[in-house]
Amino acid sequence: MDWKGCKVLVVGLGKSGLAAIELLAGQGAHPQATDSKPLAELPEAVPLLARLGTPFQLQAPEVFRGFDWIVVSPGVPADLPELEQARLRGAKVMGEVELSAGFLRGSVIGVTGSNGKTTTTALAGHVLRECGIPCQVGGNIGWPLPPVAAMAASSREGQWNVLELSSFQLETIREFRAQVGVCINVTPDHLDRHHTFEAYAAAKRRLFETQRAGDWAVLNADDPVTEAFARAIVSQPVWFSLLRRVTPGLWLDSGQIRADGELVMPAGEIPLLGRHNIENVMAAAAAARLAGATLAGIRAAVRTFPGVEHRIEFVREMDGVKYYNDSKATNVDATLKAVDAFPGGLWIILGGKDKGSDYRPLAEPLRQKARAALLIGAAAGKIASAIEGSVPLAACGTLETAVERAREGARPGEVVLLAPACASFDQFQNYEERGKMFKTLVGKLV
Ligand code: ADP
Repeated sequence: MDWKGCKVLVVGLGKSGLAAIELLAGQGAHPQATDSKPLAELPEAVPLLARLGTPFQLQAPEVFRGFDWIVVSPGVPADLPELEQARLRGAKVMGEVELSAGFLRGSVIGVTGSNGKTTTTALAGHVLRECGIPCQVGGNIGWPLPPVAAMAASSREGQWNVLELSSFQLETIREFRAQVGVCINVTPDHLDRHHTFEAYAAAKRRLFETQRAGDWAVLNADDPVTEAFARAIVSQPVWFSLLRRVTPGLWLDSGQIRADGELVMPAGEIPLLGRHNIENVMAAAAAARLAGATLAGIRAAVRTFPGVEHRIEFVREMDGVKYYNDSKATNVDATLKAVDAFPGGLWIILGGKDKGSDYRPLAEPLRQKARAALLIGAAAGKIASAIEGSVPLAACGTLETAVERAREGARPGEVVLLAPACASFDQFQNYEERGKMFKTLVGKLV
């Protein structure tokens, strides 16, 4: 597609939207910008728009008129009425990932799933780098790594672009194609925006629908949704499983990870807690192997993977009590995985902004493993009614109070775990701020 001279509206001025504007301007297009926030609240946008001479208008229905091309950031709902209307009059509406497709040189490893995307993406990149295979890592993984549109300029033939991709980025792709697609799992999340589980799963499945014969689909054989993806795609599945032998693929066999029968590594060598991280290692290893990494190279690289901040991150041990930050557990499944990673004695901090989740699946695991649930934020009441009777509950309101309560209650050998099962936006800017606040509070305990 030749963008020269095209008038394009870019909706949403987060990092992805800004990178899209820069990419479009570099191609000779005339991008214009809009956001539901005024420029005064978008400090990062101001210098870029000024440098490129890009006009800005506050988002309103009339702003969308007259554009044949509209690029939306992942944060903007694809079913926004203004976008529906633009489509009806024949305008092309695309996401930032789709826009970038034509400009990315080299090959793509695209990683999606409800949980584990960031860990798997970062690990796949780490393995490729350690194995000396040229790559760059970015996408939805977020700062300090670049959005996909910003990776186009630095992409090269013969290099792998390892991309974390969310359902929002995938739901509208047409041309964007991953030679290696990975889906770790599909469990309920973001139902506030996708409305139904089927629509959410369909958005994830898009990653495989734009693949061609000869491409690869790395899929979780233990997850009924990803398992079903294999039935409707032209790419070749490569499986991973915690439960059974799968070919072609990687599986866990009496504590050893095997790839098509050959030993990859003992799971005990993985420096991350929890069985879910064995899945992430198998998914990343499968992708890295397809990109040319050797089994010995994969084993050595996994052993040195430092993990990712806010994912069951060890913070501190004090008076025999260990504190872990899993602020990124923003849905019920992630919290279940975190609970599963510990033998028991948990003082778990739950709550935040509800995403339409059902918290009842937490009740039984908490009955078995938790000493108390400390509830914070807007969802506290909903969580309390869902898990009542399974474990002692304490309404704490704020994270600060929850940490204090945990400090008073926890005995040597026990664990204080922030794994809130909710988004953070009721009390924090984002999950990073929540996790950092937790670490600061824990760091200050005496
Ligand atoms: P994502 O980028 O998909 O949100 P992360 O790697 O950031 O994934 O992990 C998000 C949360 O999910 C963390 O709380 C983490 O402990 C948990 N998690 C990571 N991998 C998995 C997995 N394979 N299955 C379930 N939960 C996981």
